[in-house]
Amino acid sequence: QARRETLLYLDGVSKTFDGFKAINGLSLVVARGEMRAIIGPNGAGKTTMMDIITGKTRPDKGDVYFKGDIDLTQHDEADIASMGIGRKFQKPTVFDSHTIEDNLRLAMAGSRSVFATLFHRKSSAEAATIEEILTTTRLGDKRQMLAADLSHGQKQWLEIGMLLAQDPELLLVDEPVAGMTDAETEETALLLKDIARTRSVVVVEHDMHFVRALGVKVTCLHEGSVLAEGTLDAVSADPRVVEVYLGR
Ligand code: ADP
Repeated sequence: QARRETLLYLDGVSKTFDGFKAINGLSLVVARGEMRAIIGPNGAGKTTMMDIITGKTRPDKGDVYFKGDIDLTQHDEADIASMGIGRKFQKPTVFDSHTIEDNLRLAMAGSRSVFATLFHRKSSAEAATIEEILTTTRLGDKRQMLAADLSHGQKQWLEIGMLLAQDPELLLVDEPVAGMTDAETEETALLLKDIARTRSVVVVEHDMHFVRALGVKVTCLHEGSVLAEGTLDAVSADPRVVEVYLGR
């Protein structure tokens, strides 16, 4: 697949830490509007891959391109975030003492001050975007609640909403359902599928029930490169995948 036609393109990426190859010739292509699940045992390089995409870690070699021609290895974290790559870490970081709606307004405002954001009049475009995000994140009827009063799962959804407020083309999500109830886990799969109708999403996840619910192409990493790629059924039946999961 040609680099120019893809949203995210990694080719031959390597990263060594103190002589240890955390990423070793990794290639990954994510299309516009695609959701991809990344699996792999601990130490496979999933976090390092996300760090490389978001500019937190610079690879030693290899190509990392966004939207065909943006060389991500030449940009820092703040630049990359502003170019349309949002990253959700495992631990939610929301403003506990603000309402759901104000959290979204603050996220949308980015660098504008808290005071200016909460006291300026919302434009109708802003209001419409917030409504859409409240619907997507299943938080519409909780808009006036303080973030502190949300369940763990709802806080994760709010944080996803805060990333959507910055209108990313690519959303990177790290283990979104860790610690969630079964009902929240199921709802999160639907929520991410809703998001993936208009954006690309890369999800790192250990919970195979959740990956199955996503129903998307799966990439299994091992020792810093792609071990297998395809449907979850095909990947989980691959003897090499079985071996790395059982043999650790
Ligand atoms: P995963 O997220 O799949 O569990 P990681 O990307 O966190 O894997 O780690 C891959 C390997 O790289 C691990 O063996 C880890 O110890 C090593 N590693 C990651 N970051 C660093 C670092 N900053 N310094 C040294 N080793 C690192």
